[in-house]
Amino acid sequence: MKLNADDRLFVLTGAGISAESGLATFRGSGGLWNGHRVEEVATPEAWQANPELVWRFYSMRRRDAMAAEPNAGHKALAAIEQKLGERFYLCTQNVDDLHERAGSKRVHHMHGTLFQSRCERCAVPFADKGIYESADTLPLCEKCGHAVRPHIVWFGEIPLDMDGIYRELERATVVLVVGTSGSVYPAAGFVGIANQRGIRTIYVGPEEPLNADAFDEIVLGTAAEMLPRFAS
Ligand SMILES: [Zn+2]
Repeated sequence: MKLNADDRLFVLTGAGISAESGLATFRGSGGLWNGHRVEEVATPEAWQANPELVWRFYSMRRRDAMAAEPNAGHKALAAIEQKLGERFYLCTQNVDDLHERAGSKRVHHMHGTLFQSRCERCAVPFADKGIYESADTLPLCEKCGHAVRPHIVWFGEIPLDMDGIYRELERATVVLVVGTSGSVYPAAGFVGIANQRGIRTIYVGPEEPLNADAFDEIVLGTAAEMLPRFAS
């Protein structure tokens, strides 16, 4: 992948790049946690039915993410951003903070972030690394006393700032998709828009995606293997 001096890069990252750092993502088929299907712990209905179970799940994920380290793929994207500056935009489906810890600044977490929470009523996200694993320690809003939930986009909820994502997508000249099949919406829609607008599309992943035909270039390999080549 060669970038020209005036290229504007839109990057979409998904589960694959976090998995390379040892983090399970629980989205997709067969995701199980302690015998619970992910739909039982990552939906508004689950939250209504059993907030303690939901907080145990996200407390465990906070712990796992804190113990994980960014890999060479995360670091390569941070290095590319260093060169491109404001002509770089990273949209991630991942809720961990490995991109930030690798040095990325222009990161949008479309599915929310593990290390923020928000009051159900006040709805303003705030930084939170708390571990809440029993009914009597579940967090309550300091202002209004309502329940505080993870700042995560659950199944059935709308991804964050889709308008901003489309704005960045439409002015990009190159779209790079990493570690996500790109065949599931909304990611598949991003590639479709890029194609309509004649934006160059590149896929990086260990296996050919289902919608391989939609990409101009397919680079087979892991993010940690392949992205450092783009950064040099
Ligand atoms: Zn509140």
